Amino acid sequence: MPIRGKHYPKMSESQSGKKNHRFGKTPWNKGIPRTEEEKKNISAGTTLKTPRGKDHPLYGKPGPCGIDNPNYGKGLFGKDNPNYRGGINPLHDSIRKCAKYLEWSQWIKEWDNYTCQHCGKYGGDLESHHIIPFSKLVENITSLEEADMNNELYDISNGITYCKECHKLLNYKGGSL
Ligand SMILES: [Zn+2]
Repeated sequence: MPIRGKHYPKMSESQSGKKNHRFGKTPWNKGIPRTEEEKKNISAGTTLKTPRGKDHPLYGKPGPCGIDNPNYGKGLFGKDNPNYRGGINPLHDSIRKCAKYLEWSQWIKEWDNYTCQHCGKYGGDLESHHIIPFSKLVENITSLEEADMNNELYDISNGITYCKECHKLLNYKGGSL
């Protein structure tokens, strides 16, 4: 989901269709000035992390999740929620729909140049997959507030882009392709 007002780089001809690796890509945060600490991390060879605190694009903006949600704490989770579907954890479902999560998902796709990291397909139905499984990351989370504070959930280095087909296959095979 493109965020209005945010610039997304177009993929260059040379990169399209190429089975890509993370090397040589245009970083999602190109043009955003980096802090000294981030520069240090980059030179030390660590993986880029999503910006934190004031550097986060959603910093200070009321989002549709967490404590800013007007429905927060109004008992709309579970069966009281009109969107409740049996068998799906309503809290986990809410996390997946929150702006921060969608933003993370967008970053992962941008980072991977909108290319499936398994079959190399560009564009189409792409999904962002948590390398450390989402289910594991939210295991001990009991509220959207806790999810909001869980940096691992929104860590760009913990995400990879797959097309719908490969993602389905991955889930079917139990986590590895
Ligand atoms: Zn694929």
